[in-house]
Amino acid sequence: MQQDLSIQLSRLQNDLLELSHIGYDPETKGVFRLGFSEADMEARRWLIKKFNDEGFSARMDKAGNVIGSMNADAKGPVIAIGSHIDSVPAGGMFDGTLGVLAGLECMRVIRDSGLQCQFPLEVYAFAEEEGRFGGMMGVQAIVGELNPQWLENAHDPNHVLLKDEMERAGLKAFEALDARVEPKHFEAFLELHIEQGPVLERIKKPIGVVEAISGVYKWIVRLIGEANHAGTAPMDMRSDAFMGLADFAHEIPRIIDEDGSDKSRLTVGKVELKPGYAHTVPGEAEFTLVGRDTDPQIMRNLADSCRRVLSTIARKHNLMFEFEQMSWLEPQAMSDKVVKSFSKQAEKMGLDYEVMPSGAGHDAQYMAKVTPTGMIFVPSVGGISHSPDEWTHWQDIETGANLLLQTALEYAKPASKKKNAA
Ligand SMILES: [Zn+2]
Repeated sequence: MQQDLSIQLSRLQNDLLELSHIGYDPETKGVFRLGFSEADMEARRWLIKKFNDEGFSARMDKAGNVIGSMNADAKGPVIAIGSHIDSVPAGGMFDGTLGVLAGLECMRVIRDSGLQCQFPLEVYAFAEEEGRFGGMMGVQAIVGELNPQWLENAHDPNHVLLKDEMERAGLKAFEALDARVEPKHFEAFLELHIEQGPVLERIKKPIGVVEAISGVYKWIVRLIGEANHAGTAPMDMRSDAFMGLADFAHEIPRIIDEDGSDKSRLTVGKVELKPGYAHTVPGEAEFTLVGRDTDPQIMRNLADSCRRVLSTIARKHNLMFEFEQMSWLEPQAMSDKVVKSFSKQAEKMGLDYEVMPSGAGHDAQYMAKVTPTGMIFVPSVGGISHSPDEWTHWQDIETGANLLLQTALEYAKPASKKKNAA
């Protein structure tokens, strides 16, 4: 009965293009909608109007999340769909927006079909996902993970305080705590997102069903030796901090082979050598080390292994070694039930899909703490995202939105058709 329903790509296309003009920067040709900025708030007002123009109710909660809803009179918990509409500086037009606007399109299709769903539907555009003030602030408000100290102190890299920026946007930071929603409000949460990586394109599959979102830890590591004259210090009498770092980098593939999984990632992303002079043996190497995996135990094993290897290398090169753990975010599995629903609906639609991890963080990882949650990916051309060059083919957008629609219908349990009855 539901199989004959499908989204209208042209409507979704129009919405995505319209939204991409809000905060558009002609110089970079990218989207600038940093959380709680003028452009971000304009986009939120645009979205509320969009829902209203279509006959759906919509509101902004006290954390800045926009929530559109239909069938609110239906009893029972809510089928929630969503993602975010804020962006990184010079971002692309699909990141987050796709999951929100595809949700709106699902609502339109269900409305037009006359199907009477047994569950209410809500579409969430979460606030400040991208990390201007740390990230995933709106969804954390919904699941009750915000705290007053953080709201008081959070600031962006230019030292603009979250509470001041929210004030400018007409919101009170502390009231974001009131945005919390009881877990029993939800029946399930579904997020459609672009992959932002190269895997689906490489394996030529239109859909990724996310099984888990990687956890991530960030260390700042210091290898400390002795700065010395690059001419007079013989090679065997040096405490060269860079040589230690180079050795460690070389060991990364082995660490993952022995203690990681095919989902492990270890990255040295930022390096500073001191004193940083061409004719001086570097006395100190300070670098970031970011580790990821989808399994909490493997993440701990990776961290242990990095520590062991670093300490062995430090001894070998006559260095001291210290590190500071800046953050540790546990991996989050998606709901088995929702993974199965997405997979089953994809099979029904004859789609080739890949069950895969998400290496990037998403709103879904917080929603998963309160309700059965699942996520699907559509391919990113060239694996590019967080860039004006971000692109996903319209055909893949259509496929992803249709899979979202079918899965949402499975959960919303339409009982009968009011009109267009077959
Ligand atoms: Zn995103």
